[in-house]
Amino acid sequence: MSDCIFCKIVNKQIPAKVIYEDEYVIAFNDIFPKAPVHFLVVPKAHIESLLTVDHSHQALLGHLNLTLVKIAKDQGLKGFKLAVNTGIEGGQEVMHLHYHVMGKSAHHPL
Ligand code: 5GP
Ligand code: ZN
Repeated sequence: MSDCIFCKIVNKQIPAKVIYEDEYVIAFNDIFPKAPVHFLVVPKAHIESLLTVDHSHQALLGHLNLTLVKIAKDQGLKGFKLAVNTGIEGGQEVMHLHYHVMGKSAHHPL
């Protein structure tokens, strides 16, 4: 979607600190981190939120979930908080599905 900030990050039209990327997902550090490690995991396809997914997204969501765990481990996290703000009433501000992964690690101590 042309006016979507996360689509622009996916398409490299605006910069981000990308920490992981494959055919289906991209992960980059949140611009306003709320934890020593705070990255967002984003499907490359423009999906608005969890309110708009269906069973056609099952494999993608499984991949996204498994991938965020791998990235968290690679970032040195031994545990993390996972947040998916969903819909305006759920506090979602960027209307492109994204999973927040937040934690601290030996590499990034509090
Ligand atoms: P939401 O409330 O939609 O779940 O959170 C959106 C998140 O995206 C916020 O934590 C915000 O800091 C982050 N964010 C918004 N714009 C940008 C951007 O241009 N670059 C990066 N890296 N993060 C952004
Ligand atoms: Zn988008």
